[in-house]
Amino acid sequence: MRTRLARPDLHRRSCLLAALPWLAATSATAATPLHEAMRRAEALREAAVRAGDQAYGAVVLRGAEIVGAAPSRVVTANDPTAHAEMEAIRDAARQLRTRDLSGCVLVSTSRPCRMCEAAAGWAGISRMVHGPSLTDAGAPR
Ligand SMILES: [Zn+2]
Repeated sequence: MRTRLARPDLHRRSCLLAALPWLAATSATAATPLHEAMRRAEALREAAVRAGDQAYGAVVLRGAEIVGAAPSRVVTANDPTAHAEMEAIRDAARQLRTRDLSGCVLVSTSRPCRMCEAAAGWAGISRMVHGPSLTDAGAPR
């Protein structure tokens, strides 16, 4: 059961969120799309482990919608590049029928490695958020 707590700083926070929407990640109130995306990424990480793969999951979020999602498939696909983030980016590009993912957020269970960050950059991903505390890693470099 979800419990709502009184939040005296809610107004200040909502003003901040309007200016910096990605900060919604720090909201302790209702689940945000980022929270939902991380929940999905965690579920994919668990699925990867059950399948005997590496413990990673990732999703691509566009606005409030998950447009790409994948577990790590490095072991199961015998593909050293099949990191969850790479697979989620590929899935999003397929789903959206575009290689331009600008405006999208890559949400992953761990901080993307250099390969995945580069791929996110090539795809035009706008931000990367990782880990259970929704750490904002900024734009891919
Ligand atoms: Zn990677």
